[in-house]
Amino acid sequence: MKIIDRLNEDGIHISFEVFPPKTDEGFDKVISAVDEIATLNPAFISVTYGAGGGTSKNTARIASHIKDDLNVLSLAHLTCASSTKEEVRKVIGNLKELGIDNILALRGDIPPGMDFPDTDRFRFAYELVEEIRKHGDFCIGAACYPEGHVENEHKSDDIRYLKQKVDSGVDFLTTQMFFDNDIHYNFLYRIREAGITVPVLPGIMPITSASQMKKSQELSGTVFPRRFLAILDRFGSSPAAMRQAGIAYATDQIIDLLANGVRNIHIYSMNKPDIAAAIMKNLSEIIKA
Ligand code: FAD
Repeated sequence: MKIIDRLNEDGIHISFEVFPPKTDEGFDKVISAVDEIATLNPAFISVTYGAGGGTSKNTARIASHIKDDLNVLSLAHLTCASSTKEEVRKVIGNLKELGIDNILALRGDIPPGMDFPDTDRFRFAYELVEEIRKHGDFCIGAACYPEGHVENEHKSDDIRYLKQKVDSGVDFLTTQMFFDNDIHYNFLYRIREAGITVPVLPGIMPITSASQMKKSQELSGTVFPRRFLAILDRFGSSPAAMRQAGIAYATDQIIDLLANGVRNIHIYSMNKPDIAAAIMKNLSEIIKA
């Protein structure tokens, strides 16, 4: 089944994300995290694609397990910057063989020192979307950035390129993490005005430690609001308190999004089923209302 069909159904849809292990040894641990997350009745579970493409097989294996053994919709991420066009085509072919219907098409970060773009690689995610469309009837998602992508100085360029990407065949978008919902509402207004009409899933990252915050900021360039910084300042040195505060902050963001008419939400659950479960417990009555 295609994720876009699920998103178009009535009701609230909450999805989760896991990442593959860097080595085969970590595989069973990830599978048991996935199995627990699947019990939370997710709209789908997405599986990231390791930077550099080294974990590509594990992404496909985990996405198959979610779909075939757990009977949950799966979304396989695929990046193109670190692989040749031929390598990317092989991965698409493998996903097709495994019956995976849903792909999140990404450029990926450009590996340091790489002469990019070169002619043997897809330069931008929209080129990957065009390529995937040639290989079959996939449901294709893509990334978007409420605070702008780090490589772009002007948000207007980002939205112009986003429109080009969506027009190349994207069914839905998932946002980069953000911690101030007003930034998301402003972004939604701007992209709708630019004629982008596909569903947009806000990406919510529960931050439960100071080190995770630092890493998230490095990865995404996101701005943390004062309200979040005060929480970190007061509770950052107490792991249990910070965990509880991070879950509460993410819950609060989600409740605000739902109260403002958002129906689809993606949680960056990062192989932590306990945190995913705690958020879902906080939302149990809200989702039914
Ligand atoms: P693109 O859409 O190609 O955009 C990249 C940059 O190029 C942007 O600045 C854009 O504005 C600009 N651009 C686009 N088109 C043009 C054009 N025609 N001309 C000039 N400039 C253009 N990374 C991983 O390695 N693995 C993952 O699994 C992964 N999952 C992610 C999931 C989500 C929801 C998000 C938000 C990000 C994810 N990333 C992942 C990170 C992502 O790969 C990086 O942010 C990457 O730098 C950009 O990827 P993109 O697909 O958004 O690229």
